[in-house]
Amino acid sequence: MTETHRPRRNRSVLVSGASIAGPAIAYWLHRHGFDVTVVEKAGTVRGGGYPIDIRGSALEVVRRMNVLPQLQKAHVNTRRITFVDSDGSTIAALPAENIAIGADGDLEVRRGDLTGILHDAVRESVAFMFNDSIATLDDRPDGIEVTFRSGARRTFDVVVGADGIHSHTRRLILGPEERFHHYLGACFAGFTLPNHLGLSHEGMLWNTPTQRAALYAAGSGRQVYGLLSFRRPDLPFDVFRAPDAQRELVAAAFPEGSWEIPRMVAEMRAAEDLFFDAVTQIRMTSWSLGRVALVGDAAYAPSFLTGQGTGLALVGAYVLAGELAAHADHAEAFDAYDRVLRPFVTLNQELANEGDTELFPATEESLRERNAALRTLSALPADPPHATYSALTLPDYD
Ligand SMILES: Cc1cc2nc3c(=O)[nH]c(=O)nc-3n(C[C@H](O)[C@H](O)[C@H](O)COP(=O)(O)OP(=O)(O)OC[C@H]3O[C@@H](n4cnc5c(N)ncnc54)[C@H](O)[C@@H]3O)c2cc1C
Repeated sequence: MTETHRPRRNRSVLVSGASIAGPAIAYWLHRHGFDVTVVEKAGTVRGGGYPIDIRGSALEVVRRMNVLPQLQKAHVNTRRITFVDSDGSTIAALPAENIAIGADGDLEVRRGDLTGILHDAVRESVAFMFNDSIATLDDRPDGIEVTFRSGARRTFDVVVGADGIHSHTRRLILGPEERFHHYLGACFAGFTLPNHLGLSHEGMLWNTPTQRAALYAAGSGRQVYGLLSFRRPDLPFDVFRAPDAQRELVAAAFPEGSWEIPRMVAEMRAAEDLFFDAVTQIRMTSWSLGRVALVGDAAYAPSFLTGQGTGLALVGAYVLAGELAAHADHAEAFDAYDRVLRPFVTLNQELANEGDTELFPATEESLRERNAALRTLSALPADPPHATYSALTLPDYD
């Protein structure tokens, strides 16, 4: 078909990133009749990472994707969270129902299980280009010409950036990422390590006002997830692409410590699956420019303090694909995407509360208060804000 006879609807979409937002929007675009290609710089869909939560409106998205049964099977079923004092002694061990994990049909799944299930849902219907990424974008009146690092060149109607907090697509259209960060003053490193404590379906949390460590056993296996998080006044842009510098930064933030800290630091140094990032939000006044739109963390990362990064990625993918299907003109679709989704994003980003949450008290005083409350069990951590998780009633695009 020649350019002049191209149908007025947007037909072909390139998605950059194959983690959560990428495969999710690929699924919905395909279901709405678009021709979809996904480009991912890694060699395969990227598994690993800390277990993630799916709840509220996001739960409805995965139900509509017909992947709910697989995700329910993958639910990790946490039974207990133990809070450990800075000297290593146990403050309190709370059964999962007291902290409302898994309440109301909410799901907690290994991040890799979710990416695998989403990939399986689209692998037959969508073209994946692994080990490649976008080199240049040339936005023209009749389409957007994409040159790939591999040298390939193709024209699409729309490009969707689903390539995470440090989005390459966002950088290509809007420049350096610095101005989009709303930094919440901490960094974290996640990795797997041997299950020395024999943990099973449980988590352990250790805090000082400036440091947090967590061990998390999603099952009863030989490996657990470790998380080392620490306060830091400035966002360390210089280390985001330097894994060795990341390890040094984390180790320097935990020079000594009780409990499992020395062992965790040693394991972090050797870990092959280290995932380092800042506790930061991406805030943008617009999520699109020309024929390019952003989705998931690339557009509105809420930070792990909210536990809603995956939820926003799933819901955002559903809405953006639906609005592209509902509007012949991509600019109108992007406006509608913003209008429908932005209140939900804002509400969920506000959950981070400038980094001072129940699980991560920021001052000596708030940590003492939390520990005292945990010891007497007079005040359990607040119920999760279900109204916020469910604040968007999904539009019906079918
Ligand atoms: C390996 C991994 C481990 C993670 N672990 C954690 C964790 O422990 N805790 C936590 O809070 N969050 C973690 N995250 C982030 C979490 O997945 C997201 O916050 C959330 O789920 C939103 O997903 P997303 O798809 O928008 O972005 P992301 O999950 O960040 O995915 C972005 C995808 O884009 C790809 N990509 C990046 N640049 C390019 C490029 N130039 N060209 C093509 N593709 C590109 C990446 O390889 C990745 O697959 C992890 C992400 C990854 C990739």
